[in-house]
Amino acid sequence: MSTTERPRILVVGGGYVGLYAARRILKKMRYGEATVTVVDPRSYMTYQPFLPEAAAGSISPRHVVVPLRRVLPKEAEVLTGRVTSIDQDRKVATIAPLVGDAYELPFDYLVIALGAVSRTFPIPGLAEQGIGMKGIEEAIGLRNHVLEQLDKADSTTDEEIRRRALTFVFVGGGFAGAETVGEVEDMVRDAAKYYRSISREDMRFILVDAADRILPEVGPKLGKYGKEHLESRGVEVYLNTSMESCVDGHVVLKNGLEVDSDTIVWTAGVKPNPALARFGLPLGPRGHVDCEPTLQVKGMDYVWAAGDNAQVPDLAARKAGVENAWCPPNAQHALRQAKVLGDNVISGMRGFPQKEYSHANKGAVAGLGLHKGVAMIVLGKKTKIKLKGRLAWYMHRGYHGLAMPTWNRKIRVFADWTLGMFLKREVVSLGAIESPREEFYEAAKPAPAPAAAAQPQKTEERAKAS
Ligand SMILES: Cc1cc2nc3c(=O)[nH]c(=O)nc-3n(C[C@H](O)[C@H](O)[C@H](O)COP(=O)(O)OP(=O)(O)OC[C@H]3O[C@@H](n4cnc5c(N)ncnc54)[C@H](O)[C@@H]3O)c2cc1C
Repeated sequence: MSTTERPRILVVGGGYVGLYAARRILKKMRYGEATVTVVDPRSYMTYQPFLPEAAAGSISPRHVVVPLRRVLPKEAEVLTGRVTSIDQDRKVATIAPLVGDAYELPFDYLVIALGAVSRTFPIPGLAEQGIGMKGIEEAIGLRNHVLEQLDKADSTTDEEIRRRALTFVFVGGGFAGAETVGEVEDMVRDAAKYYRSISREDMRFILVDAADRILPEVGPKLGKYGKEHLESRGVEVYLNTSMESCVDGHVVLKNGLEVDSDTIVWTAGVKPNPALARFGLPLGPRGHVDCEPTLQVKGMDYVWAAGDNAQVPDLAARKAGVENAWCPPNAQHALRQAKVLGDNVISGMRGFPQKEYSHANKGAVAGLGLHKGVAMIVLGKKTKIKLKGRLAWYMHRGYHGLAMPTWNRKIRVFADWTLGMFLKREVVSLGAIESPREEFYEAAKPAPAPAAAAQPQKTEERAKAS
């Protein structure tokens, strides 16, 4: 961390908004005009729309993330840590670094880009059993876990274990949920070909949503198509229902259905990052930072916020007659808001007027597995093009492939897709990657006494005992 006489622009969060805003500020800034500091507990930005494809093995997980130190110019200061609180009176942020004691960092201008976290409910068993879909770690974990279930099911003689392993439950049918169930189903359908005792018919896929349709982002017609398409692939879709409990993997739905499953994927929406409560900012009714249309935080002319953690009036929708419209939490807005935000930070620093953010929805695309998808393109107030199937899937890939930050990552993603066309998908589970020292420990530990050798302990149990 550098200590400089220059004003410091502190960017909290290096995701979509943080990365693009910092790049914009650095591009527009005069040499030495300010120090731009980006703080994030991860050293990389995650392109979240590709998480379902990473979980399905269509894109290498490393290609879905963008290393902050590599893509931000050298003048930027990148700190890997978590901002735990902010004192607005003293203009000081407290940072908990990866290791060592927390410290305070003074700032002059502040950008709040913390994004969202999974929105959960106090459902018995959810915290212990649920798998989220917000980060690359979860996508890799899900892929390894799902493939491991096939290994488990293929190797057991216990019918109960096999049934649990081959039952996959997804809760939440928005973008994240519908895409994830579509991609994962596609992957296991492929993978099942390599297992002697497993066919697609032995597996059960369940998608649950409390609303009366899935994929609300693409409108009712395409949502209906998406549901019917998934059902045609054998996915059971239950609408207007919710999960009541999943203690020890015993899933109970409100509609009365009960199943046992070792895989419960939770994609039932997001909520603003709860850390915002310790930042001394005005928050809206659902916990978002309350922003002006200029992305300035209400009543604070040195603080800006955007993306999933911000409540920003949707001027384009309001102009079209929708009262009280707010920008939805998606990448389309996050990217565009970040650019306006960057410009406004520079203007704010120089004492120039602020620009208002307005962007009319351009539509949405969703992939539901290889060669399957839905797309809605908004061309004007009354003109919408609706696509489904292969063409929509090409739109999905084309749009997100080009939207992926940096040419380096775009090329890698397109290379993964091209290789995938000629070589078969990788279907190996690397679950042991989560405990890489286990085997070495077994090899290196002193030989146990014969009685102890009969009951091997796991590493965690050993650690607890010592
Ligand atoms: C599975 C999935 C699929 C999606 N698909 C689409 C899609 O197809 N189209 C679309 O438009 N949108 C999609 N989205 C939504 C889109 O990805 C988000 O709207 C976008 O990433 C929001 O950007 P952001 O910068 O606000 O938040 P993020 O990109 O989430 O960035 C927040 C950053 O803040 C960091 N952070 C958190 N806590 C702290 C802290 N205390 N201190 C410092 N840093 C912190 C995080 O590590 C993270 O890097 C999808 C999201 C998911 C999860």
